[in-house]
Amino acid sequence: MAFLSFKERMTIPTYDDPERCTSGHVVIDHDKCNGCGNCVLICPGASLYVAGVGKDKKAYMIDKPVPDCLSCNDCMAMCKRGAIKVNVIYDFGGFYKVLHRGELAPPRNF
Ligand code: SF4
Ligand code: SF4
Repeated sequence: MAFLSFKERMTIPTYDDPERCTSGHVVIDHDKCNGCGNCVLICPGASLYVAGVGKDKKAYMIDKPVPDCLSCNDCMAMCKRGAIKVNVIYDFGGFYKVLHRGELAPPRNF
């Protein structure tokens, strides 16, 4: 068990404080993205949106200090154009043991 100070033990964890946790983050290649919105539909963290019209229609990540991204990789698995991938994995390591699951990979292939 990781060492926690008395102050840390008395503190209720919050998940919207950048100093306490790192949430997931994705990168979107707008040269590949066609704004189909599949990633937005599948995202359990409601972290993505599509904006623009026509050829300018693209997916974006909602800009928050701590995004609600779970780094689940569902968006990556869903995107047929290979335009989106997780580049930061969530880490609540101050309060939970981090399981190292190896290389990031889509949960399933279509
Ligand atoms: S699924 Fe892929 S191509 Fe479609 S909006 Fe998302 S990132 Fe863009
Ligand atoms: S990794 Fe999961 S939670 Fe994060 S943006 Fe993609 S689908 Fe949403």
